[in-house]
Amino acid sequence: MHTAWLLAEHLSHANPVLEGAGRVLLVESDAALAQPGAHRQKLHMMLSAMRHFARELRERGVEVDLRQAATLAAGVRAHRAAHGALEVRVLEPTGSRARRLAHGLPGVVVVPGSLFLTTEVQFSAWARGRKRLIMESFYRDQRRRLGALMDGDEPVEGQWNFDRDNRKKPPKGLIPPTVWMPVEDGIDAEVRRDLDAAALAAFGHDGPRRWPVTATEAEAALADFIANRLPAFGPWQDAMLGGQRLLWHAGLAAAMNIGILDPMTMVRAAEAAYRDGRAPIGSVEGFVRQIIGWREYVHGIYRLREGDWDGMNALDADRALPALFWGAPTEMACMSDAISGLEATGYAHHIERLMLFGNLQLLLGVDPAEALDWFRVTHVDGHDWVMAPNVLGMALFADGGRMMTKPYAASGAYINRMSDHCKGCRYTPTVRHGVDACPFTTLYWDFLDRNRGSLGTNPRMALAVKNLDRLDSDEIAAIRDQAAQVKDAFSA
Ligand code: SF4
Repeated sequence: MHTAWLLAEHLSHANPVLEGAGRVLLVESDAALAQPGAHRQKLHMMLSAMRHFARELRERGVEVDLRQAATLAAGVRAHRAAHGALEVRVLEPTGSRARRLAHGLPGVVVVPGSLFLTTEVQFSAWARGRKRLIMESFYRDQRRRLGALMDGDEPVEGQWNFDRDNRKKPPKGLIPPTVWMPVEDGIDAEVRRDLDAAALAAFGHDGPRRWPVTATEAEAALADFIANRLPAFGPWQDAMLGGQRLLWHAGLAAAMNIGILDPMTMVRAAEAAYRDGRAPIGSVEGFVRQIIGWREYVHGIYRLREGDWDGMNALDADRALPALFWGAPTEMACMSDAISGLEATGYAHHIERLMLFGNLQLLLGVDPAEALDWFRVTHVDGHDWVMAPNVLGMALFADGGRMMTKPYAASGAYINRMSDHCKGCRYTPTVRHGVDACPFTTLYWDFLDRNRGSLGTNPRMALAVKNLDRLDSDEIAAIRDQAAQVKDAFSA
């Protein structure tokens, strides 16, 4: 009988390596905990989820070896030494570093497969022969293949995408619903004690725990989302409101990424809400697209372009990440709010990630490897497979446009439209230079100016470049001057 080795991303009773296993191995790696800047909520969630899963397995009569070790490899070696030279099976790790490690460990058999809805073979078959890997076309195929929101061969209500009805500007006084929170238990207290004792150089605050660590908790969080937030998810999915973190988002990516929540369970719950008239199609379709479309697409792209992510830097960006990303004070109201929210929870929603964090890094020209590392360790759902395509391909355009057709560069005007941050900010979103100039706006025009050569040939950037061309030479000089000052201030 073999040992089933479960990584922190494989905490599912449906994990195929559990079948026929004589015992289960879970390793709490000191090296993984000691990653510089790792968020305390994330470390807590991982350890708590592993310990809760170990308890569930023991309650089912399974023998579990939950052990602390300097590294994952040391944990596996110690397990094999203690239990004889038996076979250790692990489900194929998603991240390339963990996969290389697992394949290189003596006595370890890597079982092909994943907890995703799309296998590597299926994604490669879809990608084969296509000039561009367009997410929307992948998503439509997923809808057909998985039978999600379909009436026979046709999409429900005759339309694949309802974005036209979604992504609205938030009106004044918009208040999001309250959100389900887990109740901590003895395991959490023990985890917190252990993390305190380890004196890690972690980022952010630990506690109260906000993220599900068991399948039961994940189901409660899902039920709360479906009942209270899904109906208005569509219109407000891009809104940013001061002091608000989840807004109408599910916040369940971390639960899916560690294996305690099956993506298809989420899709079926959302579809049932639509079919029963509890949620409108625009919200449900937008949500389903995130799960079976974007999430699966990002995973597929990550695996397909596995060797390409390291060192990717098409725009030759080389600046260090400014200290404000690690919580240093800033007068930018939008960044201050989103970073303090990230410190408190380990979470920022997709528009905060893309249009605040990623946008600022893109406009400043932050080194993509450093930016990727920051996203990976500071977000509770950050894993290499999810962050490499999202940060390098989407937010930073470091792949030169293989994934997206244009850079997601935006000025303060976008942030002003989609948030309530600017009214309380000491900067003015429409001003390009001078003491009141919004750093996003200054850097946006400077980014267009600096990259005019490469962006001028991109049809999707034509309007932006045309607007740049309308500015006279004095205005351009003033923007360049101001941008240099802003960059110096960020580097200080
Ligand atoms: Fe952010 Fe600029 Fe608006 Fe201030 S004015 S909140 S810096 S976008």
